Amino acid sequence: MSSSPEKCVKCGICEMVCPSELSALRALDEDRAGKHNDEVANCTTCNRCVASCPAGVSITKAIERMRDQMLTPGYRETLANISTYGASIVPAQPMAVEMKSRRVAYFAGCLTNYRLPDIAGAIGYTLDYLGIEFTRIPEVCCGSPLNRIGRFDLAKTMLEKNLGVMRSLGVETVVTSCPGCTSTLMEYQDDFDVVHYLDLYDRYGLSRELSKSDKKATMQYPCHLYRNVSPYTMVAAERLMAAMYDYRRLPDPDRCCGAGGGVRRNDVSLSRRLRAKRVDEVRALAADEVVTTCPQCRIHLSEALPGVGELSVLIARNLGYR
Ligand code: SF4
Ligand code: SF4
Repeated sequence: MSSSPEKCVKCGICEMVCPSELSALRALDEDRAGKHNDEVANCTTCNRCVASCPAGVSITKAIERMRDQMLTPGYRETLANISTYGASIVPAQPMAVEMKSRRVAYFAGCLTNYRLPDIAGAIGYTLDYLGIEFTRIPEVCCGSPLNRIGRFDLAKTMLEKNLGVMRSLGVETVVTSCPGCTSTLMEYQDDFDVVHYLDLYDRYGLSRELSKSDKKATMQYPCHLYRNVSPYTMVAAERLMAAMYDYRRLPDPDRCCGAGGGVRRNDVSLSRRLRAKRVDEVRALAADEVVTTCPQCRIHLSEALPGVGELSVLIARNLGYR
C-alpha cells in the first residue's frame, strides 16, 4: 500500500538501496519545504527505494511529480519527439501494420518498433506458434516516458489514443514486451487484460518445448517488470532461461543498469557510471549469452557488452524463427 511523503520516518533505507547519485530523503524533505532540487533528475525510477521503504512512501511517484516543471535537455527531447512524431524517439521508418478485428493485440512500444524490430518479429512468430490470433495497431507512445518526467496528463492522452484504437477492434487482451509499456497499460486493467509475454509463455508451458544447450547464460532483471509489474515475471523468465541454457543468476540481478527514468537521455555519463558495476559482474561470470527482457536495458548494456540478447528473440529462435 503506497502512502504520501508525510509518512516518512527518516530511516534512510531508501538511500542505502538506491543505485543512483541522489538522496531521495533530501528530495522529499526539500519538496515538503517548497524547495526545488535538480538532483531528482538522477533518479532512474527503478523503484528499489519504494520496495524497501518501511512506511510505504510512494517515493518514485513523488520524484516524478517534482520533475513536472523541469526542462532539462533530455526532457525537452522527449517532449519534442512525442509532439512531432507521437513517439519517444525519432522513428527510423514509418510504422506499417495491418489492423484486424481480434480479441488479442500485441503492443510493442517505441524502442521495439523503431530500433529493435527483431523483438516484434520474434513475438509475432511465437504467438503464431502458440496459435494465438492477434492484431497490431499503429501505436503512439504509451506515455511511460512522460510519466517518468511528471507529465502525467499528457501521458494519459497518449495512452488513451492507443486504447481507443484497440477498443474499436474489439481487443480484450493486450500482449506486451516492453516493461515500461506493460506497467503503464496495466493502469487500465479494468478495461483490458494486460499480459506480458513472459507471463503468457509461462501459462502455455512453453519452457517444456525448448531445447537446451550447454551454453552459459545470465540475465539482467528489468526494474519496471520485476517491481512494477510482478516479481513473478522473473520466475517465468528464469524458467525459460534454464530450459535453454546453463543459467547463472547475477548478483543483485534487479539492480538498475542505469538506463531508466530518462537518465540515459539526460545524463549519459551518469547512466554509464551506473552501468559499470553490472558490466564487471557480467564479465566475471564469463557467460556465452547475456540476456534481458527490456529494450532500453538491451540498448544500454549493449554499448559495453556487444551482443546482449532479448529473451523473446532467443525463445523464438529456439522454436525455429530465423
Ligand atoms: S525509506 Fe521511506 S521512511 Fe525511510 S527515509 Fe526513505 S522515504 Fe522515509
Ligand atoms: S527509484 Fe531508484 S534511483 Fe530513484 S530514488 Fe528510488 S532507488 Fe534511487
